[in-house]
Parts: sequence; C-alpha cells; structure tokens
Amino acid sequence: MQERLIANSVVSDRFFWNGTPCWEWIGKYVYSNRGLAYGQLNVRIKSGPRKGKVRSERAHRVALRAFKGRYLGKRYVGGHSCNISWCINPDHLVGGTQQANVRKTVREGRHRNQYNPQNAQPLLEAAFDGYVGLKDHVAYYGDLYHAAN
Ligand SMILES: [Zn+2]
Repeated sequence: MQERLIANSVVSDRFFWNGTPCWEWIGKYVYSNRGLAYGQLNVRIKSGPRKGKVRSERAHRVALRAFKGRYLGKRYVGGHSCNISWCINPDHLVGGTQQANVRKTVREGRHRNQYNPQNAQPLLEAAFDGYVGLKDHVAYYGDLYHAAN
C-alpha cells in the first residue's frame, strides 16, 4: 500500500510544513461538503461481513494507516498540519489511534522491509516511468524512516 500511495503522489515544490514538502495526491480526487479536495482511492476490505469487497476511502486516511499504523474512526476525518487537504505526507497528518501491534511489527523488523527504498524502487519505476521526482520521493521517506529507527 505504501508503494501505491507513493506512486500516486508527488513531492511538492510549492507546499511545505515544518521543513518538509507535502506529498500532493495526483490520483482521483473527491470534494468534501466544504469544497475541499481530498485524494481518494479504492481499497479492498480485509475483514468483516464485506471482506473482499472494494470501497472508496480518502487517501490521507489510508496513508495514516499504511505509514503510521494509525486507525481513524468512521466519522473522524483526520487532520492536516499543513492545511493541504490533498496532501498524504504521513508526517503532515494527525489523528488516529496507534495500534500496539505496529510497534511490535517495527521491532521485529518487518516494517523495515516494507519501507526499504530498494524494494519499492522497481515497482515505482514501472508505475511512473521517467518521472524525475520519484527517486527523491522514495529516498525521502526511506531516509526519514531510517533516521528515526
Ligand atoms: Zn502536507
């Protein structure tokens, strides 16, 4: 999922927060009641009565879950520190509940593999042939992750 989110966003050269660039969604958009644009993508439901079916979800919610292991309640929108509603940079997103098993996963090193830019690179290059910013994008989050761990 991380690769998919990265492939559907670009590192912004115009919006920043706290010294880091926004990741601007370049996939499908949906507009809120207040007229704000949010990234949207289809995700497959993993459990419950609708398991296996597909539903639309806002991209920043998916990003919080995929990168930070944070889960937002159904009605909770989730916030952007950067105020860019279509940004999915996990470090610009607030809200959600940290799940204990994420910490366990990180400790066991499984997260590290998922974040490994070398693993992500071929997939991303296939998805975005020739896009210059992509390598930076992967390197950025990869570096950030490794710096924190
Ligand atoms: Zn942002």
